[in-house]
Amino acid sequence: MLRILGKIQRIGIVTEPLPKIDEPALEEVGAQIKAKIGEMFSGSLAIRQVDAGSCNGCELEIHALNNPYYGIERFGVHFVASPRHADMLLVTGPVSRHMEAALRRTYDATPEPKLVIAVGECGANGGEFGVSYASCGAVSNVIPVDAVIRGCPPTPLDLMRGILQAVGELPALK
Ligand code: SF4
Repeated sequence: MLRILGKIQRIGIVTEPLPKIDEPALEEVGAQIKAKIGEMFSGSLAIRQVDAGSCNGCELEIHALNNPYYGIERFGVHFVASPRHADMLLVTGPVSRHMEAALRRTYDATPEPKLVIAVGECGANGGEFGVSYASCGAVSNVIPVDAVIRGCPPTPLDLMRGILQAVGELPALK
């Protein structure tokens, strides 16, 4: 133990410091999300992300929300593993025929009141893939959608703005 403490004292901190957050819009949108979530969801919004047929580009941007730079958890947004624990579904991709039933079941398993956001051009309108024997196209062709976040893929800040807009427009809880 003493040997470890001595080594810590000798070497110090070798990891790089976190980059300074120099995106004022990020802090501004984050603060608005935090305030809305405090008002509407007692400070905690749980999101279940569903990949219904994405190329994974949208997922990479969604994952970035949880990195130390964006750190969306500090604004009260958490990603959960089950739709049964979720307030919101974040759905990506054109809905592949293989995922159609799974998406419907996920929607049914999410407790009311639930919000659904279709993410990316694919989620909005089927994108490059449209409707075909293999694709149902837009998320709204399969389940009701409350908001759409456009982009291919949308940036993390676009995603945060979309979440803020969807939460702010909740008619039943206003
Ligand atoms: S919107 Fe673009 S990044 Fe997202 S799933 Fe479609 S092709 Fe991929």
